[in-house]
Amino acid sequence: MQRVYSHENMMILSSAKNLLELNGIDCFVKNEYHASGGHVGLNAVPVELWVYDDQSADNAISIIEKELNQIGDLPDWQCRHCSEWNASTFETCWKCQATPQ
Ligand SMILES: [Zn+2]
Repeated sequence: MQRVYSHENMMILSSAKNLLELNGIDCFVKNEYHASGGHVGLNAVPVELWVYDDQSADNAISIIEKELNQIGDLPDWQCRHCSEWNASTFETCWKCQATPQ
């Protein structure tokens, strides 16, 4: 197992996890219960994303970097169905699979 990503914002980490799952990479989240729920504070503990298969780690990291680096360029969108925020690169809600429009 290998850590491929960490972030204090659970929303962003969930986005990364969703990305890997869409690409068929088995992964899991560590420190989920210590997460700040999207509000980054002084005591926030970074949530970690791990892959089960070390062989997938390099691929996983490149997928995350490629996709999440684009987030800053476009605004996130909020799901009209479940109110979750989604990265601009997502065509459907990571939580409920609803479409933006
Ligand atoms: Zn949704």
